[in-house]
Amino acid sequence: MARFLSIILFLVCASASAEGLLPVPEKTVVLTFDDGVLSHSTVVAPLLKKYGFPATFFVCEFQPDFDDKSKYMSWEQMAQLHADGFEVASHTRSHKHVNVMAPGEFDQELAYVERKCAALDVPKPKAFAYPAYVHTPVALRTLRERGYKFARIGDSRAYDPAVDDPLLIPSFSTTGTNENAAQRVLAALRLATGGKIVVLTIHGVPDDAHPQVTTSPELFERYLKFLAEEKYTVLAMRDLAKYARPAPHTANTAMERYAPQLEKVADADAWRAYFTRSDAWRARHVAALEAELKAAGLELPKRAPSGGARYVTPEKTRLAKSMMSFQLPCGGWSKSVNFDKGPREPGMQWTSQESPWHYAGTFDNRATTDELQFLASAYNAEPSQEILSAIERGVDYLLEAQYPNGGWPQNYPLEGGYHDFITLNDSAMLHVLELLDRVVRSNGGFGFFQNEARRERARAAVERGNECLLRMQVRSTVWCAQHEPLSLAPAHARLFEPASLSGGESVEVVRYLMRLPKTPERSKAIEAAVAWFAGAQTFQAKDERQWARFYDLKTQQPIFVGKTDGRTYETYEAMRAHNPGGYDYLVTRPEDLIGKWVGRWRLGR
Ligand SMILES: [Zn+2]
Repeated sequence: MARFLSIILFLVCASASAEGLLPVPEKTVVLTFDDGVLSHSTVVAPLLKKYGFPATFFVCEFQPDFDDKSKYMSWEQMAQLHADGFEVASHTRSHKHVNVMAPGEFDQELAYVERKCAALDVPKPKAFAYPAYVHTPVALRTLRERGYKFARIGDSRAYDPAVDDPLLIPSFSTTGTNENAAQRVLAALRLATGGKIVVLTIHGVPDDAHPQVTTSPELFERYLKFLAEEKYTVLAMRDLAKYARPAPHTANTAMERYAPQLEKVADADAWRAYFTRSDAWRARHVAALEAELKAAGLELPKRAPSGGARYVTPEKTRLAKSMMSFQLPCGGWSKSVNFDKGPREPGMQWTSQESPWHYAGTFDNRATTDELQFLASAYNAEPSQEILSAIERGVDYLLEAQYPNGGWPQNYPLEGGYHDFITLNDSAMLHVLELLDRVVRSNGGFGFFQNEARRERARAAVERGNECLLRMQVRSTVWCAQHEPLSLAPAHARLFEPASLSGGESVEVVRYLMRLPKTPERSKAIEAAVAWFAGAQTFQAKDERQWARFYDLKTQQPIFVGKTDGRTYETYEAMRAHNPGGYDYLVTRPEDLIGKWVGRWRLGR
């Protein structure tokens, strides 16, 4: 019995200590070194070894003069720091500040340093230092997603593990060469008490790349001597895990993003299966590009050529081949890729975007549906199994990307943000429905497509999509430009695209519904929308009646949201007075809808 009890006690204690953290010793300091400058290898590392102190080196390829080896370490020298027992961590690739990076760029900067480390047998960095201490919420999220545990800023105060975010660890800079600097650093070190840790940010010792942040070798050794004599506990960033809870790793998956909403829907299993497929494609795309980069010995993916008129050349076969080479493994295409520049090369992104995973599979700007239409015409000109297979994969992609409730996101696999919304903006979802309808009816260039199983699936998909459109209509008015995938609620996209009633996209939805065979439900939806347009507040410009692109969901009054300030104005003029950017804030198409089309539709023509 006593033995049994002691086992239980042992288990309880073991689990408590596994979860618990050690108390922070008095006089604890973390040494960190930024920018990968040469003196870290030639001056700092030997001195640290002499004192037996660990440290973290935040390395990067400081631009524009990283190639100047009189200033910066080579990657081999950085790897040697790891071999000598120090921690090598990330300071981005180029030292660009995270607040000026394009979407996905930070992710790529981190991936580059991780790839470099892997090639040199340096463990994947777990710590990060923000260049110039600049941080953003998006950067924090990216760090969590990539598994970073601790990240360092400036702020000139002691770090309190009980309070501070592990991805916003404050630090003191040691910059300086005179007695004032020395007194400042020594005063900071004395703040390492009462559970607080002092983190030092040290640039070059000396710093030949950026003399304004130099720390003199004399002072540096004085600090080390002080730490040794005063018996400080000296740590590298990675050692913080003993005393502080690291940042939670958040996988960037659709399943994670939508898990909380799954409890509220009836067909949760169908949604779960959808998110699993989407996440699996995303992971496969990442793995495929990484494998190509490795095989080709490339450190950065090349961007796909961008822009260009895609379909003007008469050389259909050549263009079709190029187009097919840019078809993603999932079967879709990105947008704005210039297929005229030749086929995709190994290690090249499927997208011309900054990040390889931005719009990697999309319906925006008619992407994917246009490619399928072009390939169909290429097949009609010169049939080949290769083209047919590409078309079949593309059609399968359209079918797979459909949400269980019948809607389509803008991008698939799911990317996150407003791209996950069911997208009527620029008629993205309508383009998919129209293409699938051609497949079903074997018309519009798809006469050759005789795969009955796929056509049957396409028929069911179009049916579900049409029903989803009716369910998305906002309380017998019109539609929003984008709707939440699970709840179908109107959704806010970019800063200037509020959750609202759309005077623009809704016209296209009604036109689409008018082309379908009449049913009581469709007729009701169409008449309600037409009545809403007829009663909506409009503006008179010369001889034209203008509708607002957005109307408030509650008051149904026109709203104009500034592209720059994101503020809502009641008139276009008031908004323009504060916002220079262009956008289609006013539309005239509803005139045709209520003046011409509805009459013809009612007559059944
Ligand atoms: Zn820096």
